[in-house]
Amino acid sequence: ASAWSKVPQGPPDAILGITEAFKADSFKEKINLGVGAYRDDQGKPYVLPSVRAAEDKVVASRSDKEYAGITGIPAFTNAAAELAYGAGSAVIKDDRLVITQTISGTGALRIGGAFLERFYPGAKKVYLPNPSWANHNAVFKDSGLEVEKYRYYNKDTIGLDFEGLIEDIKAAPEGSIILLHACAHNPTGVDPTQAQWRQISDVMKSKGHFAFFDMAYQGFASGNADTDAFAPRHFVAEGHNIALCQSFAKNMGLYGERVGAFSLVCENAEERKRVESQIKILIRPFYSNPPIHGARVASAIMNDSALNKQWLGEVKGMADRIIEMRSLLRTNLEKLGSKHDWSHITSQIGMFAFTGLKPEQMDALAKEHSVYATKDGRISVAGITTGNVQRLAESIFKVTG
Ligand code: PMP
Repeated sequence: ASAWSKVPQGPPDAILGITEAFKADSFKEKINLGVGAYRDDQGKPYVLPSVRAAEDKVVASRSDKEYAGITGIPAFTNAAAELAYGAGSAVIKDDRLVITQTISGTGALRIGGAFLERFYPGAKKVYLPNPSWANHNAVFKDSGLEVEKYRYYNKDTIGLDFEGLIEDIKAAPEGSIILLHACAHNPTGVDPTQAQWRQISDVMKSKGHFAFFDMAYQGFASGNADTDAFAPRHFVAEGHNIALCQSFAKNMGLYGERVGAFSLVCENAEERKRVESQIKILIRPFYSNPPIHGARVASAIMNDSALNKQWLGEVKGMADRIIEMRSLLRTNLEKLGSKHDWSHITSQIGMFAFTGLKPEQMDALAKEHSVYATKDGRISVAGITTGNVQRLAESIFKVTG
């Protein structure tokens, strides 16, 4: 018998199934709201002009193809650290930040999971918001950690269950690992306010919890990279020695280039050295060292003040288009006379809107209106355009009555 004759058939990826159904639909005005990638107002993938310019510079430099170090290209990681923690951040100046380049945000989570599994002194269990990005569960389980949930989303208000969140974080044993989405929570688009972040920080400090931030959308949420980094920066200012995952997939549109970073704030420079040595020991058997091209492009942008400024403008452009589509979808629904409260469409933030639609309604959207998105009612706002928003609103109106 074949060595693999007993390998069971696994379930297909939920998002891939949507893409397939979308492709198979011959209706001209079909709409794909499943993809988690930015689209322009023509519904086309968008390569940022700053990325094109940086790429030209990288190619023109005729650099060699030698290996990067295990933790990647220092010009990239230094700039990524400043972007996340703020230029002139004390933890950088005090030389107590460990940072490594990673295979985008997913790779950052996986390195972080592996490091916690090997060295976290408390329970090897991570608390995820309910719901969370589906891959969090898989990444942490594969890292050998247990996964638990804390309350996050209130389906009755289509908003944050702040009391539930605080209760669950208080109820978790001292020194628990809590995963936090830094901004633009995926899939709900529901973020705590700055006042709520302060409270979360206080409660976590009083319980000695460990804050593990996933920041996959810095700049992409509000249009301002500093505003979006409020939570991790506040935690650090409050003395939390956080872990932080960064992705440049969304904010630089570098999806397939796989550009990211993982960092840990340490107590002092001596601890930083020890931790860094172990991060290298972890990464080496994983993939030896990270790919160089995308990190060179990101580095060329962040280390050139004119290109950096241009890039921040382009991130804001993407965020603004998303915000405008939210508002157009809501006004179109209201114009149709929908009796539902659609205010959450505009109060949520980031690439996704959690519509509150039920699985049957999402099915009807696909079958009767050729509008494709995940069954949980999440729609990718990036897939909405001035050209399709009216038909989308009419379709949602019809299935929600
Ligand atoms: N975390 C969250 C919450 C995300 O939404 C994503 C992207 N879908 C990621 C991490 C990582 O994505 P990537 O590996 O492409 O950077």
